[in-house]
Amino acid sequence: MVTFKGFPAVVTARFECPKCGKKNRTRKFRAECTVNPLNKNEDGSIKSPAEVLRQSQVRAVEEMDKFLVKPLCTTCERGLTYAERNGLFEERRNAIRCPICAGPFKPEDTCASDITEGTCHAACLEGSPVVDLDTGEEIPGGMLDTYPYSEIMDQEAALAGGPAPSSTTGAVA
Ligand SMILES: [Zn+2]
Ligand SMILES: [Zn+2]
Repeated sequence: MVTFKGFPAVVTARFECPKCGKKNRTRKFRAECTVNPLNKNEDGSIKSPAEVLRQSQVRAVEEMDKFLVKPLCTTCERGLTYAERNGLFEERRNAIRCPICAGPFKPEDTCASDITEGTCHAACLEGSPVVDLDTGEEIPGGMLDTYPYSEIMDQEAALAGGPAPSSTTGAVA
């Protein structure tokens, strides 16, 4: 069995629980993408460890952003009914919006990542300079790296259910 190397990223959200009022609650969000033959860049090249790590970071921050739409401490969240919890997750999912036009994302929307704003509609970023994500330098005439929004939604599931099962086993350094 093949094990792919994972590059985990963890971000911590700090919030005050709006339900019970407890302050200084924290919640960690961890994402781990792996270097594997299915995890490719637009141009078809397999993502490098640095690119995969960045992918994990973006994913972890996205999870945190979703959570912060409606944060709840663990105790309050455990107290929810199954239906309430589903509603909460649905609400968080739907609340992720393009930071430029504030519109929601549909699976078929073409998106691009802005270095400061995160995921935006590609159309909303049109005309803004393309920068190298590693250096922050502007790339003259650079092409925006675009992807369908569904890719963000599906990637996790695809990797989990694809030919890389338990791909993270033993991969955490
Ligand atoms: Zn609470
Ligand atoms: Zn937009």
